Amino acid sequence: MAPDPEVRTGLAQRRQLLTEIPGPRSRALAERRARVVAAGVSSTFPVYVARASGAVLEDVDGNVLVDLGSGIAVTSVGASAPEVVAAVAAQAADFTHTCFMVSPYESYVAVCEALARLTPGDHEKRSVLVNSGAEAVENAVKIARRATGRDAVVVLDHAYHGRTNLTMAMTAKAMPYKIGFGPFAGEVYRVPASYPLRDPVGMTGEEAAQRAIDLAQRQVGADRIAAIVVEPIVGEGGFIVPARGFLPALAAWARAHGIVFVADEVQTGFARTGDMFACDDEGVVPDLVAVAKGIAGGMPLAGVTGRAELLDAVHSGGLGGTFGGNPVACAAALAAIDLYERDDLAGSARRIEARILPRLRELARRVGSIAEVRGRGAMLALEIVRPGTLEPDAAEATRVARACAAQGVLVLTCGTWGNVLRLLPPLVIGDDLLDDALGVLAGALAAGSEFAARP
Ligand code: PMP
Repeated sequence: MAPDPEVRTGLAQRRQLLTEIPGPRSRALAERRARVVAAGVSSTFPVYVARASGAVLEDVDGNVLVDLGSGIAVTSVGASAPEVVAAVAAQAADFTHTCFMVSPYESYVAVCEALARLTPGDHEKRSVLVNSGAEAVENAVKIARRATGRDAVVVLDHAYHGRTNLTMAMTAKAMPYKIGFGPFAGEVYRVPASYPLRDPVGMTGEEAAQRAIDLAQRQVGADRIAAIVVEPIVGEGGFIVPARGFLPALAAWARAHGIVFVADEVQTGFARTGDMFACDDEGVVPDLVAVAKGIAGGMPLAGVTGRAELLDAVHSGGLGGTFGGNPVACAAALAAIDLYERDDLAGSARRIEARILPRLRELARRVGSIAEVRGRGAMLALEIVRPGTLEPDAAEATRVARACAAQGVLVLTCGTWGNVLRLLPPLVIGDDLLDDALGVLAGALAAGSEFAARP
């Protein structure tokens, strides 16, 4: 189990409210921001951060908030983990940048070695390092196209893959990600996902996969498809866990037709779901894996790891970028990866699941707006609907998230309909803090349930 972050850093792992949320200093910063920051950049909680440690954020007014979002699944090793901070400081003092494409350095190689070791499958692997999840997904598509000589890319409904032009095309949800930003990249085809809550009752994973495969074969043609890109648990689209058998069936079909199976593990990767990668749960071995978010303890780093023959099919100079695999980010990644392994943070994710899931299930029995409790490890969610229906209720999910924030607990929403409350706590969160935050969440949910309780 991970050492208590309070002991390691000194910022007490306790919720503390000194002002209303947001406080006066945060409100003053919001005014400054409105004059210079683009309106298109939104912030879920207008609370400006001064310090962070473990699973808490201290704002500029001295309030200490419990972070159940980890900066969208990034600070899994805890905010400002001391080992990551030390590695960043030491590397920054040595050199901050050379550009790996100009003059290389060891840490880039060491991160690629770690990725080869940790990603699913024991085949020979290669990696390329980039800056963001979207860039990783784009590069996975580039590699698959170059290696197969094919153009088409198949993605799933509810997918989120990023905000660049190609990844916007691959992302499902129009508002806010796509509206007005087209035309989008071509040769991207969408097929249905496995969504057990909303699929026909009793539909198996294999049947859901067959539904997707049938569409891809009829509307695209298997021999035209370079890659199928799949989030093993859908992230932004609603923390949708596919029915068992769905991923293995898609992977088997891809293998049979020379289609590159790409797992977008940007959100699910690095111990988040109770395994190092979510694909491990069913023993699925992707041809390429896109990683980002949790890899470097909060520093921007991402990558594509996969079969040597696919990565090496790309001509020299075909992959890269000025900042890709920045040495400070690589040093942070090596420190973070050491923590994932040393402290068995995948085990911590399973501990968090064991602590949260029964409470959420108990809540779901009492609160009629909770249609489903789902997720794996420390990637858990509640889908909120109008009681007695499957009609999504985004307003209620937003109300609950806001009520939690007012009490000093940050809970994110997601979902195609914006009606899913998602929990992504840092994997180092202590049981007491987690219980405290869950109590706040339960109170906020129950507050809306006088008229929502099931008979
Ligand atoms: N893929 C998935 C599954 C994601 O969750 C995200 C980010 N939410 C991305 C890609 C894009 O990552 P980034 O924001 O780093 O570009």
